[in-house]
Amino acid sequence: MKILSSVKTAVAAGLFICVTIIVAFSASPAFAARSTATAITPLSATEASVLTFMREEEKMARDVYINMYKLWNAVTFSNISASEQKHMDTMKKMLDKYKLPDPAQDAIGVFTDANLQAKYDELMASGTKSYVDGLYVGATIEEIDMMDIQHAIDVTTHLDVVNAYQNLLEGSKNHLRAFVNALNSQGVTYAPQFISQELYDAIIDL
Ligand code: ZN
Ligand code: ZN
Repeated sequence: MKILSSVKTAVAAGLFICVTIIVAFSASPAFAARSTATAITPLSATEASVLTFMREEEKMARDVYINMYKLWNAVTFSNISASEQKHMDTMKKMLDKYKLPDPAQDAIGVFTDANLQAKYDELMASGTKSYVDGLYVGATIEEIDMMDIQHAIDVTTHLDVVNAYQNLLEGSKNHLRAFVNALNSQGVTYAPQFISQELYDAIIDL
């Protein structure tokens, strides 16, 4: 009994010391400074809308490639659609971190953003014509994606988000190379439509 009561006292005393430390710590200026440093600075309205758009643009790429794979049964499409899923996940992680709602719907080929819906419909209409058209649509999507990612990087000051975009950009370069190579093997020479010839050459010659 005596041991138990001294344990109780010790626990109570320990608890008191802990509480005292926490109160003292949280009241200190150092703790306040540290809280501010680790707090997440919200995204600006522009950063938020661009991130929201990029999440769905990655979905557009993924959804087109899923459909192209079903149609043309070429492994390039299934490999790249899996990569686009990872890009979508990266964007979702950032949306979650900054407590922004997810615009991406579960259904394949359905988009919240009307412009992306129109673009998806247009690309699908083109890509279903032939395997080569499908590959051409792939290269087109990667070029559009690169332009949009670069814009997203330019308007973003949060380094974690910039870093996420840079991962997407590296992926897009690889995807563009893959589609251009696949077109080459079909006897088609691709010419860049949106990015500069200089940037295109730098990516393809890697
Ligand atoms: Zn991507
Ligand atoms: Zn891509």
